[in-house]
Amino acid sequence: MIKFSIDLLKRQEIDLTGEEPPTFLNDANSEILSFHDSIKYTLHISLKESGILVGGSVSTKVNALCGRCLKPLKLTIANNNLCFFVNTTESLDCDISEQIRTELLICLPMNFLCKNDCLGLCPQCGVDRNQTACNCANSFEDTPNPWTELDNL
Ligand SMILES: [Zn+2]
Ligand SMILES: [Zn+2]
Repeated sequence: MIKFSIDLLKRQEIDLTGEEPPTFLNDANSEILSFHDSIKYTLHISLKESGILVGGSVSTKVNALCGRCLKPLKLTIANNNLCFFVNTTESLDCDISEQIRTELLICLPMNFLCKNDCLGLCPQCGVDRNQTACNCANSFEDTPNPWTELDNL
């Protein structure tokens, strides 16, 4: 849980540095991605007229599968430009876990690739085309397109 004392904030700005266990992101686990590394954060919290301003950075590593060849991969995701306001009615501690979680997860890429030019798996024989060249590619392109057949009618 990432939280700070409202009472302290009223007296001074707060620098908050720490780590959360991978379970912090459990809800985000899926078939293609999971978290096994701690979540590191460095936050600066200050009281402004319009509310409580939280800035800083948060990062972790994500284990995922390449979207083309299914190879496991691990990459760092980070939000180094955290900046959001908190409105709280709490008088003791303000918990910003949920906001930090969201700010980190928006940094997940739409697609995971082991490398930009990953060739993926052959849709016919299933070999990893990064490692093995199969002979399917040509015959695949030679397959008559059913729409062409229709056009000929
Ligand atoms: Zn790949
Ligand atoms: Zn093949």
